[in-house]
Amino acid sequence: MDNSLGLIAFAKVNLGLDVIRRREDGYHEVKMVMQTIKLYDQITMEKNDCGEIRLTTNLPYLPVNKKNLVYRAVDLIREKYGISEGVDIRLTKHIPVAAGMAGGSTDAAAAFVGMNQLFHLNIRQDTLLEYAAGLGADIPYCIMRGTALSEGIGEILTPLPPIPACWFLVVKPSFSISTKYIYEHLTLNEDTVHPDIDGMVDAIRAGDLTGVTSRMGNVLEDVAIKEYPQIATIKEEMIRFGALNSLMSGSGSTVFGIFSSREAALEASRFFRKQTGIRQVHVVRPFNKLPRRHAGADRGEGIGS
Ligand code: ATP
Repeated sequence: MDNSLGLIAFAKVNLGLDVIRRREDGYHEVKMVMQTIKLYDQITMEKNDCGEIRLTTNLPYLPVNKKNLVYRAVDLIREKYGISEGVDIRLTKHIPVAAGMAGGSTDAAAAFVGMNQLFHLNIRQDTLLEYAAGLGADIPYCIMRGTALSEGIGEILTPLPPIPACWFLVVKPSFSISTKYIYEHLTLNEDTVHPDIDGMVDAIRAGDLTGVTSRMGNVLEDVAIKEYPQIATIKEEMIRFGALNSLMSGSGSTVFGIFSSREAALEASRFFRKQTGIRQVHVVRPFNKLPRRHAGADRGEGIGS
């Protein structure tokens, strides 16, 4: 049916995250290696005649008004293109919230793509990325997806080749960490250990998985561990179960491990569920766009309707 659309919005992790400096306007200049993973939220969008945006979600504590990034993305496109019809949106969250996995940003990215398809607007990709950057620094990446180097405040993107096949174990502890807290407590000085992002990019280009995992690092991690030592414990447990390496994603609190064996990742996941009582535990593959010749099949995020 032409009046509705189903979309999937993938989460990301940071294989590497460095903060170069704090700009005078308060933003932080970053250098990050981003990787989309196959953990996703589902969004359905349907035109309505009442002229309103009506958003519902499976999580009662999430805002369903302008505070939700999905709402804002839809509103922005409606305004820019003078659309009078309303949209009913159902958002089913699976990505942990406030966890360093760009959950809100990826939902907004899907909403931008969805509006473009639903109303046949033919908005060019670069224009869509511009709108997205205006709403949030990570949203353009979430539209682009895959493996990428992200610079500036997150809006300067360089696509990279897919990382070699592997499995991600994602563990979101029961506590959340405020991004604001982490950045406020981050001190950058000569003692700061910066991850080797350039080396990681070279390893990705060379298809060298252990070259990538040996360079995993997140400059925000020590700040988080000081306040939440459980992050360090989770990292150690993942290594004990055979992860090539483990890291906190973004500003936390999610920790992920990269495994070459699916079995080992699953065994570790069972440990976290049973022994630690953590409920948000996932074993997923990385998501990368299909090779060019298959681009037609991968173009739309639509998964039905
Ligand atoms: P990032 O990795 O970009 O720092 P995050 O994973 O830390 O993101 P989100 O899950 O995007 O954080 O949510 C942070 C806050 O944004 C939540 O507390 C929530 O109230 C608000 N929010 C707005 N829209 C959404 C959305 N669609 N999904 C989740 N949270 C949203």
